[in-house]
Amino acid sequence: MLTRLPGLTDVHAHLRQPGATHKEDWESGTAAALAGGFTTVLAMPNTQPAIATGEALEAALDLAHGKARCDYGQYLGAGPNNAAELAGLAGCAAGLKLYLDQTYGDLKLDDMSLWMPHFAAWPKDAPLAAHAEGKTLAAALLMAALFERPLHLCHVSRREEILLIRKAKERGLPVTCEVCPHHLFLTEDDIPALGAGRSEVRPRLARRADRDALWANLDVIDCFATDHAPHTLQEKDGDNPPPGFPGLETALPLLLTAVHEGRLTPEDVVARLRDNPRRIFGLPEQPETFVEVDLEEEYEIRAADMQTRCGWTPFEGWRARGRVRRVTVRGALAYEDGEVLAAPGSGRDVRAKA
Ligand SMILES: [Zn+2]
Repeated sequence: MLTRLPGLTDVHAHLRQPGATHKEDWESGTAAALAGGFTTVLAMPNTQPAIATGEALEAALDLAHGKARCDYGQYLGAGPNNAAELAGLAGCAAGLKLYLDQTYGDLKLDDMSLWMPHFAAWPKDAPLAAHAEGKTLAAALLMAALFERPLHLCHVSRREEILLIRKAKERGLPVTCEVCPHHLFLTEDDIPALGAGRSEVRPRLARRADRDALWANLDVIDCFATDHAPHTLQEKDGDNPPPGFPGLETALPLLLTAVHEGRLTPEDVVARLRDNPRRIFGLPEQPETFVEVDLEEEYEIRAADMQTRCGWTPFEGWRARGRVRRVTVRGALAYEDGEVLAAPGSGRDVRAKA
């Protein structure tokens, strides 16, 4: 028997186009999204070149328009000199991303004086998202409070972070956050088995106590987000392994397995992969759009069965219970049993004017 879920949204994916299409592109990345039950993906801006100007945004949206198989939005990346230009583009972007800690790409903003123009200029009703770890997260929360504006915190992974966000929410600050499945299901104990290169990810895999704190503070977690960050195996196993895991095709199966184990309810999953992302990012309804899953089917996670171009997963060989069988977007079958049916270009820009 198949169970129907609404079309899901991943608010944090790296689709690698422009600049690194040997890892992923709009076609393969949105195929992976559909195979994972996602009907909307919000793409991060740390491409090459980075999406940090109006010109780059237009080029990225043009690519997506021709290639995306599911609905999409494109983030802008905050740089040292682009706050005013980007603020004028807020209506066309998924949100503004601030890279405040070590990351992949060249968008990191070190000096807090470089954050301020973005906190000041970016419209308060447009999503502002930050990669901020540890004490940087505390600084970002302070900045949001000083500028009296909402802030979304990406891939929260540590106990001290989730506890701080709880306190901020208790104080009434308009802060939201996302957690990635790999931080809910992997810890630094998994590094030896994965290998040094393949376990490289930002934020790093954390301690068991951190993982347990995420589970214990589930009520503070607004969204699950994949941080789908594909790199090829050759790169991961090479001399200078780049950080990142693919995640679009494993997120829902892992979370449904947790549902089967009684650690989550189906409502917990839908709230964090659909309702809260919609609300926080102001996303449009997708009529006649749904995902059919077999909650009882047990299967082995294998990169060989996946749509992502990167060719590997840190969850290789894991047993999952709960499989995506069919995805329907706006009444048309988009994915069925391993086959992506949605054509490139059938996806819509979430910021397109009606
Ligand atoms: Zn990311």
